[in-house]
Amino acid sequence: MQQHYQFDAIVIGSGPGGEGAAMGLVKQGARVAVIERYNNVGGGCTHWGTIPSKALRHAVSRIIEFNQNPLYNNSRTLSATFPDILRHADSVINQQTRMRQGFYERNQCKLFAGDARFIDANTVSVSYKDGTQDTIRADHIVIACGSRPYHPASVDFTHPRIYDSDSILELNHEPRHVLIYGAGVIGCEYASIFRGLNVKVDLINTRDRLLAFLDQEMSDSLSYHFWNNGVVIRHNEEFEKIEGTEDGVIVHLKSGKKVKADCLLYANGRTGNTDSLGLENVGLESDSRGLLKVNSMYQTAVAHIYAVGDVIGYPSLASAAYDQGRIAAQAISSGAASGHLIEDIPTGIYTIPEISSVGKTEQELTAMKVPYEVGRAQFKHLARAQIAGMNVGSLKILFHRDTLQILGIHCFGERAAEIIHIGQAIMEQKGEGNTIEYFVNTTFNYPTMAEAYRVAALNGLNRLF
Ligand SMILES: Cc1cc2nc3c(=O)[nH]c(=O)nc-3n(C[C@H](O)[C@H](O)[C@H](O)COP(=O)(O)OP(=O)(O)OC[C@H]3O[C@@H](n4cnc5c(N)ncnc54)[C@H](O)[C@@H]3O)c2cc1C
Repeated sequence: MQQHYQFDAIVIGSGPGGEGAAMGLVKQGARVAVIERYNNVGGGCTHWGTIPSKALRHAVSRIIEFNQNPLYNNSRTLSATFPDILRHADSVINQQTRMRQGFYERNQCKLFAGDARFIDANTVSVSYKDGTQDTIRADHIVIACGSRPYHPASVDFTHPRIYDSDSILELNHEPRHVLIYGAGVIGCEYASIFRGLNVKVDLINTRDRLLAFLDQEMSDSLSYHFWNNGVVIRHNEEFEKIEGTEDGVIVHLKSGKKVKADCLLYANGRTGNTDSLGLENVGLESDSRGLLKVNSMYQTAVAHIYAVGDVIGYPSLASAAYDQGRIAAQAISSGAASGHLIEDIPTGIYTIPEISSVGKTEQELTAMKVPYEVGRAQFKHLARAQIAGMNVGSLKILFHRDTLQILGIHCFGERAAEIIHIGQAIMEQKGEGNTIEYFVNTTFNYPTMAEAYRVAALNGLNRLF
């Protein structure tokens, strides 16, 4: 029999955006219903996106380390297949799911395991797998339904050798050659994973360079390392036709070329999960990519309905989605949000080697006519990197040559996504605390990767005249 529930707030989706909103709201004493259509909490982040890809990448980079380091390998070679390393990802996904389920239980957040759809601006129906339905009414609603891989109509994703970034996690054969269409962050991360498993990789880029939003040196370094490791990159290409065959896939490019491989990972674009939400019943409309518009408090055009995470587009990161959820919860509880997302959100790209950046690139500063100077450190000159065998990598600090204010930090190499936070913390300081001089006036542990900041700062300050 259909039940009718009443709550203070409804959250649609249990990814980082939904979790941030739900936890923020319950901490303020609200009675919260969370609706999740997948059979576990955690969202795309835990089950198909961030967590599995990072766990796979970790397994591959440890295999590479083992094989390259004479300390371990003793002339033995470790090898693994994609299905082998998926088992490691599964165990991390299970730990994450259990932990997140615990958050909802401890905080008495009621979970509804079904598909949410608006009936009117304050009522949402939940459809369960057995065909039954309940309805929930609430004063406030947070849409945190995430996004999914974009599927062009002309590509047959039902073909057993054509994958997207979700279905690749079900790959159960051992491809010797993978074709990746789309060289954005996801495409580049999977290129590293497959190449690290000794699989031939062709990476088809629809743009003229890899990850064009990065500082050009970082993007060029990635291109070089891919090239050096045998990844074949084709820039400025678009597909004419994607043909699934019995034992693989042939991609016909508009330039006339044909590329054949054992399987295809299509990783070109994402779409917001708004099509089945019944937005028309509340007077909301998504754009052509399924995304919703919000203001700085994450309010949609309907004031008591909020949206956070991938469904609002940029930056489409788990890190930001969680903070957006908490800010929306604050706005709902207190009528306004005192918090806001930081302006310089760091980028962490888990390719092999890893890349991380915060702040402006050299190209942006040049276009803005900012008189900046550059300080550099090479990992190969750092004691800690030599000890750990992490010689590939560099750190670059961009700073204003008059005020010495840090304007951008770009790191390439193992642990870059962690190393960046040292510089980010200084960059975020107010007043005069955010200058490059911090790194020469402080004492860091030695030997550490943080020494890269001191070396880069001295290098940069020595360039001033
Ligand atoms: C391969 C890959 C790698 C990534 N790597 C990183 C990374 O390293 N770092 C990073 O910060 N970000 C990364 N991301 C991005 C990150 O995963 C997303 O930004 C993040 O998951 C967005 O969180 P969200 O809460 O908006 O949505 P999601 O995590 O997608 O959660 C949305 C949830 O809503 C549910 N849902 C949808 N519609 C309904 C409905 N109608 N009713 C009920 N439930 C519904 C879905 O089932 C899902 O569980 C990666 C993404 C991918 C695909």
